[in-house]
Amino acid sequence: MTVVPASWQATQHELAGKTILITGAGDGIGKAVAIACARHGAEVLLLGRTEEKLAACYDYIMLEGGRTPGIIPCDLGQVSHDALCDLREELNASVGKLDGLVHSAGLLGDRKAMTQTSSAIWHQVMQVNVNAAFMLTQTMLPLLNEAPEASVLFTSSGVGRKGRAFWGAYAASKFATEGMMQVLADELGNTSNIRVNSINPGAVNTSMRRTAYPAEPPTSNPDPETLTPTWLYLLSSASIGLNGQALSAQ
Ligand code: NDP
Repeated sequence: MTVVPASWQATQHELAGKTILITGAGDGIGKAVAIACARHGAEVLLLGRTEEKLAACYDYIMLEGGRTPGIIPCDLGQVSHDALCDLREELNASVGKLDGLVHSAGLLGDRKAMTQTSSAIWHQVMQVNVNAAFMLTQTMLPLLNEAPEASVLFTSSGVGRKGRAFWGAYAASKFATEGMMQVLADELGNTSNIRVNSINPGAVNTSMRRTAYPAEPPTSNPDPETLTPTWLYLLSSASIGLNGQALSAQ
């Protein structure tokens, strides 16, 4: 289901005072969400694999006059529990709380039949899309608990809600993402101020989409910048009470 009420529009300071960590912030949807959050007053922490891309996002936000972002170079395919605990301690000392955690980093893997999928690719996709998202969320829970109301957003996909041929590990990883969201939302719903939801972005003109559909004209899908109101709404106080929902941005 789509989620943003027709009457809702983010105010200029909608996310003022909030600190939001975004994975995959160097490119595509994560970058667009990071820029939009900064534009509406948030302090954003940019986590991603390629430092130059994070630096470009940082520069863009600074040029727009946003709050100084944090840059967290991190390969989620390799990251350890200990490294994430160190990150939490650093963030505890510097920002003290997390009001939002957006999991946008994702790996497509191979578009092949299950019978052709290598176990190395399978494990890699599961590591980035599922295991790292679990580890990061679990590690950051104490900081999310410090915020008066925190929002965790997982990124799903159409093939994470209905399986389709040749989407192999990616589809399975997105089903796992939905399961993780539901379990966590159920556990935290009545015991904390943390809400947990998933978003299926729909087809979006990013490098992942262009790789998955090389023959498709890129302009046939919306640019990520046009879809950011969904993330802004779910990170803002306007969505308090919404928990455990599988949502769509289109
Ligand atoms: P992009 O490929 O444009 O961006 C993905 C981001 O994830 C990149 O910044 C990439 O970093 C980062 N990333 C990948 N692997 C790692 C890693 N090991 N460690 C840290 N960061 C990593 O894809 P989208 O923006 O399209 O995808 C964002 C999310 O939306 C994904 O979860 C995807 O599955 C989902 N989605 C996208 C759809 C679409 O049509 N675009 C449709 C449905 C779901 P780097 O640039 O450094 O490689």
